[in-house]
Amino acid sequence: MNKNYTSTRNKQIKLSAKDAIKKGFADDGGLFVYPELSRLNVDLNSMEEMSYQQIAKVVLEKLLPDFSTAEIETSIASAYDHSFDTAKITPLVKVNNFHVLELFHGPTSAFKDIGLQMLPQLMKRVLKKDNKVMILTATSGDTGKAALEGFKNLDQTAITVFYPHNGVSKVQQLQMETTDGNNTEITAIKGNFDDAQSNVKKIFNNQNLEQQLGDNISLSSANSINIGRLIPQVVYYFDAYLQLVKQQEIKLGEKVNFTVPTGNFGDVLAGYYAKQMGLPVNKFIVASNANNVLTKFFETGIYNRNIPFLQTDAPSMDIQISSNFERLLYYKSNGDTEYVKSLMDDLESKGSYQVSAEILKNIQADFFCGFATDVEIETTINDVYKKDGYLMDPHTAVGYKVMRDYQANDPDTPSILLSTASPYKFVHVVTKSIMDENFADDHLSMKRLQEFTNQPIPSNLAKVWDLPILHQDVIAQDDMEKYVLEKVEDNFNDKN
Ligand SMILES: *Cc1c(COP(=O)(O)O)cnc(C)c1O
Repeated sequence: MNKNYTSTRNKQIKLSAKDAIKKGFADDGGLFVYPELSRLNVDLNSMEEMSYQQIAKVVLEKLLPDFSTAEIETSIASAYDHSFDTAKITPLVKVNNFHVLELFHGPTSAFKDIGLQMLPQLMKRVLKKDNKVMILTATSGDTGKAALEGFKNLDQTAITVFYPHNGVSKVQQLQMETTDGNNTEITAIKGNFDDAQSNVKKIFNNQNLEQQLGDNISLSSANSINIGRLIPQVVYYFDAYLQLVKQQEIKLGEKVNFTVPTGNFGDVLAGYYAKQMGLPVNKFIVASNANNVLTKFFETGIYNRNIPFLQTDAPSMDIQISSNFERLLYYKSNGDTEYVKSLMDDLESKGSYQVSAEILKNIQADFFCGFATDVEIETTINDVYKKDGYLMDPHTAVGYKVMRDYQANDPDTPSILLSTASPYKFVHVVTKSIMDENFADDHLSMKRLQEFTNQPIPSNLAKVWDLPILHQDVIAQDDMEKYVLEKVEDNFNDKN
């Protein structure tokens, strides 16, 4: 019953939303997807007066049919009723002739909070009475803290976060090191983000380890490959649209464009889900930083990751394999899982693949793609602040630049720009851009930026400098598996 989900690489696989969330991803490396999204048509006419939570209920009931109404309602209340600093959750702010959808009002000031406040609530309702799950997360900064805040103190779960030693910003490091909670484990690893990520994948795929853990203890993922993190993000596309209607900027049914700063393609894919479910969208404008693998794909149909990896001003988007793009390939090939598998095999063996002209055309019908360099990011932050009085973080600035490029061809469609982080999270780049100064450290930058702009510092970022440091482990890459086993023991076996 209710086996609505399948794998991008094998359509024989059928499983429920609950099992898909518990497992994270398929054994063959494929990602779980809902095949026929257009059947889940959402009736916007009845939604104009709905709160964020009510819209969330409509969307989640469609995409998570094996969760009961009570399970969905209590999950939504736990995720969003108290942890955001605005009742609107994702406010829409008019700037000049476009609208900014602010996704950074959650407990860690990054858009990851929207998925990661909800995923733990769903996970909790998926676990049977004696099940226990250890969440493993490799992070380049934002996901780790957001996942920690979501899972901390949640019964039957524990979470281990790996981040690159000396590879995250001071603010991000402090956010993680000061995390409290009785089930949170954090360690730096001597290696970069890719090392962290590939070792986590190895741990997931280690069958021996699975046996060692026993029947009741499993591992799962809090990255956006988990459908339980992606689905909550579909909600704010509907909410943003309905806010525009309410503000009388558009009429119900009129099409809009969304611009989305993109790394792993999770955020923008959630928008595509909304469109398939009936949201009137003209184009999604996909914005990358100088790691522009996707921009080149949109020009040529060739996805090629064999180019140098760059560290940019928008580090949360420094990525070469946009995992969720696989899900788009699944939909755009009409669910041809063998075709998707062959592309992913090519990516694995050669670092590249090419799609057919027809599929490229299909993708271009819904998406436009462009990129911004670091210089363009800094110029944008400065220009928009000086001209429009709006302070942007570097990731949002990437989106702004590409949105303006796109508008040269389509100036009239109403435009919503997704803002993915508070400017105070990437304070070094922001102060450099608008004040033309390099302060000695981020704490000082934060204070000076606040004095200069009079914009409030989110309380979680303001207080991070004074909280006690609770985690300071640094381990070798090769010790990651051992670390996980120790932490499983500490959290699940010693406590009972
Ligand atoms: C993760 C992240 C992104 C990219 O989102 P994806 O879902 O990976 O495409 C953009 N901006 C910020 C600030 C992020 O943390």
